[in-house]
Amino acid sequence: MTGRTSLEEIASCVAGYDPKALPVAQAQEFIARLVPRVQAVEKVALRSALGRVLAEDVVSAIDVPSHDNSAMDGYALRGSELADAADSVFGVAGAGFAGGRFEGEVGARECVRIMTGAVMPAGLDTVVPQELVRVDGAVVRVPAGIVRRGDNRRLAGEDLARGEVALAAGRILRPADLGLLASLGAAEVAVFRRLRVAFFSTGNELRSVGEALDAGAVYDSNRYTLWGMLQRLGVEVLDLGVVRDDPAALATAFRAAADAADAVITSGGVSVGEADHTKAVMAELGDVLFWRIAMRPGRPMAIGRIESGGSEAILFGLPGNPVAVMVTFYALVRDALLAMSGATATPLLVVRAASVGAIRKRAGRTEYQRGIVARAPDGRWQVRTTGSQGSGILRSMSEANGLVVLGHAQGDVAAGDEVDVLPFDALM
Ligand code: AMP
Ligand code: MG
Repeated sequence: MTGRTSLEEIASCVAGYDPKALPVAQAQEFIARLVPRVQAVEKVALRSALGRVLAEDVVSAIDVPSHDNSAMDGYALRGSELADAADSVFGVAGAGFAGGRFEGEVGARECVRIMTGAVMPAGLDTVVPQELVRVDGAVVRVPAGIVRRGDNRRLAGEDLARGEVALAAGRILRPADLGLLASLGAAEVAVFRRLRVAFFSTGNELRSVGEALDAGAVYDSNRYTLWGMLQRLGVEVLDLGVVRDDPAALATAFRAAADAADAVITSGGVSVGEADHTKAVMAELGDVLFWRIAMRPGRPMAIGRIESGGSEAILFGLPGNPVAVMVTFYALVRDALLAMSGATATPLLVVRAASVGAIRKRAGRTEYQRGIVARAPDGRWQVRTTGSQGSGILRSMSEANGLVVLGHAQGDVAAGDEVDVLPFDALM
């Protein structure tokens, strides 16, 4: 990982930077400027490349398809021999099948029986689908006006021309891309090494699943939501467990994370009134800012770099509340981790949906409400919010299928107004 600008310099580049009341857009811009990109590249087998980030442009060494070929089962002929007003009659010179080519002579007013994918015989440029012709003994009759010259023929290189960039570096490879690479004959692909992301939870009240739940304790759910969201991003995940509110234990965990990972995500311990040691240890081990973001849920956040020996990791210190963890991850961490992974930014799919009910919203902060999007009887999308929107109520997230995003400047929403919804499936 390379490139290093101080946090102060980054802040000075972000117009309107105010760490005590930071709009989401400014926080995103700051983070985008902060994070380095993975440089290391590895070759992987084609199927192992699914979901990985392409490290180099893939240039086609061949034309795909390699020859002009038929798009239909039918008869190949010279389009110039089709009459405008009357039926055209052709003799049949032979047949060509997929993967092969009719190599014989095709005389004047002759056609060749041809199957889909078969190479076009030399000199022939048009295919008439078999269901459109009449076969009369040895001749094929083509009614006037049903095909034009060049119809039903696939041209060499029409899918990919030799020398063309088939896929650009930075692309997250999807199923169609694997197929495209296979069509070029690529058995291996150069991808960036997987980003390594460590995470742990902080708080003395937290118990891990499997432990007894004593009075006042809660089970640690954040390590599970984080694990799931990180898996979906395709990064390598390192779970460092629950770390007690003890300076030595916290320092050990941060050092281990900085040693092993490119990024470390913590949850809890970054609130303003927090009495525990998390913030102090973060500040001691690295260069860290403590933000209050103009968003709901998820106002407090720590951001910066943590160091151990020569190793460094980007720190995302998220708030502890289970919904706040997920929302801040999607709003501020997800894109940053994709950028660190080498991926080119692509805009998220946003659904515009009519709000079923009125929503109270204060201008001057971005709100992320949990919503259920469904099709209205008229076919348009509508969204209703899921009951209680408290930031500790994880069920609101589990019931939802998307986040209603109410922008910084937006005020109250009236029933029927259209709002932006980020479908969870678009977030991976
Ligand atoms: P904090 O940000 O540390 O003040 O935590 C805010 C709230 O989130 C508290 O009620 C915590 O008990 C709760 N919380 C913090 N971390 C977790 C976690 N890993 N799993 C579930 N709840 C948590
Ligand atoms: Mg706490």
